[in-house]
Amino acid sequence: MPGFELFGDEERKEVNDVLETGIIMRYGFDGPRKGNWKAKELEQAICERFGSKYAQLTSSGTTALTTAMAVLGIGYGDEIIMPSFTFVASFEAVLSVGAVPVLVDIDETLTLNPAAVRKAITSKTKCIMPVHMCGSMADIDELKKICDEHNLILLEDACQSIGATYKGKAVGTIGHAGTFSFDFVKTITCGEGGVVMTNSEDVYTKCDGYTDHGHDHLGVDRGADLHPFIGYNYRISELHAAVGLAQIRKLDGFLATLKKTHTQLKEILSQVPEVSFRAIPDPNGDSCTHLSWFLPTAELMQAVVAELKAQNILAGNFYWFDNNWHYVRKWDHLKQVKSLYRLSDAQEGALKKLATQDFSASDAIMNRCISTSIGLLWTDEQIKEKGEKLVAAIKKVLKAQSVSA
Ligand SMILES: *Cc1c(COP(=O)(O)O)cnc(C)c1O
Repeated sequence: MPGFELFGDEERKEVNDVLETGIIMRYGFDGPRKGNWKAKELEQAICERFGSKYAQLTSSGTTALTTAMAVLGIGYGDEIIMPSFTFVASFEAVLSVGAVPVLVDIDETLTLNPAAVRKAITSKTKCIMPVHMCGSMADIDELKKICDEHNLILLEDACQSIGATYKGKAVGTIGHAGTFSFDFVKTITCGEGGVVMTNSEDVYTKCDGYTDHGHDHLGVDRGADLHPFIGYNYRISELHAAVGLAQIRKLDGFLATLKKTHTQLKEILSQVPEVSFRAIPDPNGDSCTHLSWFLPTAELMQAVVAELKAQNILAGNFYWFDNNWHYVRKWDHLKQVKSLYRLSDAQEGALKKLATQDFSASDAIMNRCISTSIGLLWTDEQIKEKGEKLVAAIKKVLKAQSVSA
C-alpha cells in the first residue's frame, strides 16, 4: 500500500544532506545549515504538485487537523460535523480545540452522506469535515453547497487520499483548508508528519505561527520574533521532511502502480455478480490505495471474513465493521468519555449521546464492506493469485449459503 514499501537510496540521500550539517531543525541556523531547507522545499513541492497556494508542514496529520481547526477559529462549543467512519485522529483533533464532534452516517461512498449532514446542522455548527477515506473522495460539490448555504467552513481530512482528485482538483485543496498525513503507512511518508494546505494567505500565515509557539517569523533572529497570538509546537523536523521530499518525487510512480493493480484486481472480483463496488463521486480521481467492495448481506460478508481468516489470507482485507480504529461501533473509549482530563459539558454530553445514537444506516453499509489494500510491490502473478483466492472464498460461501437456503 504505502510509500514505506519503496524506501531507498533517494530517501537516504535527502536525510544524509541534513545529517552532514547536523541542523535537524527546520528554523534558524541559516549559516550552518549550508543551504539545506528540507521542510521549506517540501512545502514548495506540495504546493506545486497539488495546486495549493500555501502549505504548512506539521508533526503529524493529527496536528495538521488541530492546526487547521484552530486557525479557522473553530473552538469551544463549536460543532464539527464528521463521518462515523474515519480514523480516531479526526475526532481527537476536534476535541483538542474544545469543539464538539457531531458524528453522522456515511453512504456507499464510504464518506459523509450529504443528506445526513443537512439533518445534523444546528445553530452551533461551524464546520463540515468530510474524510476522504481509503484513497477515494467525498461528494465535495454537494458538501460545498451545504457549507455555502449555511455559511460553514469546509475542512477536508484528506490524510488517507494523497493524490486523489475531484473534478481535476487535488482533494485537500478544495475546502477552506485540507490536510494530508505523512505517517508511516500513508501513501507517501515522512515517518511522522502532516500538512495543512490552503489557498488563503491569512490561514497560511496563522498556520505558520501556530505550529511554532505563535512566533511570527518576522524577527531579525528567532529570539526577536513577536507573538500576535498563542501557538503550540507542532513542528516537523528536517529529518522527517527530508524523507518526504524523496517520497513526493516518487508519488506519481506510486499512483500509477496503484491504479494498474487496482484495475486488475477489480476485474477479477467483477467475475462474481454478487460483488458490488464503492460509489466514487469522481471515478477518475480515485488514488486507488484500496479496492472497497460489498456483498449483498452482512451474513455473507461475515462468512467470507471467517473463510479468509481460516485460510490465513485476511491480512490486507479490512472488514471495518469489526475494526477498533476506524468505525464508531468500536469506539467505546469515546462513547464512555474516557478522557484523562475534564472535557467541556458540551463535549461530554455529545460523546455520551453517541452510545445511543442510531448508526444503523452506516452499519448496513459497513457490515457488507471490505477494503482490500493495494500493495506497491505486487507482481502480476501475485495480483492474480490474490484476486483468485478472494473469488474462490466468496464463491465457496455463496455456494454453501444457496445449499442451506
Ligand atoms: C492517518 C490519519 C490521520 C492522522 O494522521 P497521523 O499523521 O497518524 O496523526 C487523520 N485522519 C485520517 C483519516 C487518517 O487516516
